[in-house]
Amino acid sequence: MINKTAVEDGVTDLRKNSNPRIVISKCLGFEKCRYDASGVESATVRDIVSEVNPILVCPEVEMGLSIPRDPIRVVFFNRKTRLVQPSTGMDLTSDMIKFSLNFLQSIPPPDGFIMKSKSPSCGIGGTKIFNNPDDDIPVAFGDGFFVKAVKDIFPVLAIESEETLKNPLVKKAFMHRIRASVSSREK
Ligand code: SF4
Repeated sequence: MINKTAVEDGVTDLRKNSNPRIVISKCLGFEKCRYDASGVESATVRDIVSEVNPILVCPEVEMGLSIPRDPIRVVFFNRKTRLVQPSTGMDLTSDMIKFSLNFLQSIPPPDGFIMKSKSPSCGIGGTKIFNNPDDDIPVAFGDGFFVKAVKDIFPVLAIESEETLKNPLVKKAFMHRIRASVSSREK
């Protein structure tokens, strides 16, 4: 016999299933997984998470780096960007690309992304790019390596950072787009 609690649980599950699925950088309030073992609290992200089903990811840790770890950065090499760890000389580009593609193809279809700004992995447009691993001054700004893979695989989905979502208009447009994505995948 199905009791009331089970029915209520079922209704809750159904409601949750039709909630947007948003991939979120884990350091945005879920785990202290940044290179220096810190996290970033974001009231906006917390607010959005209450309305969605979050899919959390920390590409750097999940591809095998430790917490804490020496910083990594994006560097030009032969006119292409590479992901490197200056202190060890390691080139992490292939590992990051492999992790990102595997991860993005293994999750249930997402409706949008909230990524940590400026990160060499999760940054959207504002990630520093250097000419040499040890330079102090960037020569350009671009996407982090995980975000490049996101844009390749899900080119039409909404993607914002904890910084851009502080703008109420950006947040409203983001929520509108992810709800539209839910509607289209439920048709
Ligand atoms: S920015 Fe991305 S890779 Fe860096 S700690 Fe946060 S989730 Fe991990």
